[in-house]
Amino acid sequence: MNDILPGDVETWQFLEQKAREVFGTYGFSEIRTPVVEKTELFCRSIGETTDIVEKEMYTFGDKSNNSLTLRPEGTAPVMRAFIQNRLHALDPVNKLYYMGPMFRYERPQKGRYRQFHQIGAEVIGVENPMIDAQVLAMLHHYFCAIGIETVELQVNSLGCPDCRPGYREALITFLESRLDALCGDCQRRYLTNPLRVLDCKVPGCKESTQGAPSVLEHLCGGCEEHFSDVKKHLGALQIPFVINARMVRGLDYYVRTTFEMVTDKLGAQSAVAAGGRYDGLIESLDGPALPGIGFAIGVERLALMKGDERVQAPRPDLFLAAMGDEAAEKAFVLMSQMQRVGIRAEMDYQGRSLKAQMRRANKLAARYTLILGEQELVSGEAELKDMDQSSQQKIRLDELIARMGVLRASA
Ligand code: ATP
Ligand code: MG
Repeated sequence: MNDILPGDVETWQFLEQKAREVFGTYGFSEIRTPVVEKTELFCRSIGETTDIVEKEMYTFGDKSNNSLTLRPEGTAPVMRAFIQNRLHALDPVNKLYYMGPMFRYERPQKGRYRQFHQIGAEVIGVENPMIDAQVLAMLHHYFCAIGIETVELQVNSLGCPDCRPGYREALITFLESRLDALCGDCQRRYLTNPLRVLDCKVPGCKESTQGAPSVLEHLCGGCEEHFSDVKKHLGALQIPFVINARMVRGLDYYVRTTFEMVTDKLGAQSAVAAGGRYDGLIESLDGPALPGIGFAIGVERLALMKGDERVQAPRPDLFLAAMGDEAAEKAFVLMSQMQRVGIRAEMDYQGRSLKAQMRRANKLAARYTLILGEQELVSGEAELKDMDQSSQQKIRLDELIARMGVLRASA
């Protein structure tokens, strides 16, 4: 679990701010849910035989012996909140987004942590494949907005409760024929959750399932048509994508359209965003029978991808250096007045030498500096030094705030 420190946090704020802007444009509102939920919520939604529920959840009993779990993902809590607050009664279509920490007990490595952060979005109430394309267009738009273009959008369809069982059978038969080549995990789960085998990261499993039957060849008429419409709409919107028939996703609630944003820049952790349709989920949680689709983006992985082009903290507009108590008092008042009107003013609070104060101004990379001494207090004038241009100009102290405002606006 990481601390996010000044220097890094500016990149995070940028990523979050862009999400608010882009998602807002598409009519999404933010929803905030607690970080803990009843354990049962995740078992019922994500699925008992998934990696998350089998081995990754932070689960504990509280003082009244309720089993609680730190949320490992955002969709189930949002659906719980949606049902509990009867949001469908207010509007037949709900577009929601969230951002915040998620928790999974995983083996930590680059791009994989035990507390990590997701920015996610969900649309509830629309079955039309246009919404699938729209959600993907929004995801694509977001990646453009944050300046990450080296990702590939992979899409697939996982079918529905009508056609998935047929595919499962075909896959189990295939897996049985090469059981010896699979890892222990997969040998154990190929009957309970055969689709997971296709997602196994063990190289031997990847290799020996190369010729596995494709889910796309087992879609029923309805799913086939839905998927071909999604592709058509993506084409109309000129959103680049590739089909990946092996993408199965690690959560059981997905049906029909599933997708990932994939990069080759993060080693083994290649998915920076993932999502799909979950049409039966809300009903299975005792809510109304409404379809849904959504995605979650891994913020740590985005920040890693931003790498060297990290977002810089804004530099101070002005550093006030003061010599003597009276000048320090004047500088203090001027600084506070400027901060009130949005000018980033700084000073030294420790009564240090002028040299030490200027060192601090340089360290903070202040754009302008102004030295206040006895003489400046008497004359009511001082030199405003432009640290970038190494030029000076005389300025009246009673005009300083207004002048700084103008300089700042024209910068
Ligand atoms: P992976 O295959 O990498 O384990 P996942 O399928 O478990 O990912 P999802 O549950 O779909 O991931 O979560 C969506 C996104 O959240 C992922 O694409 C990834 O960017 C991010 N993510 C998931 N788990 C972690 C983690 N432990 N640390 C950091 N980011 C994560
Ligand atoms: Mg995972």
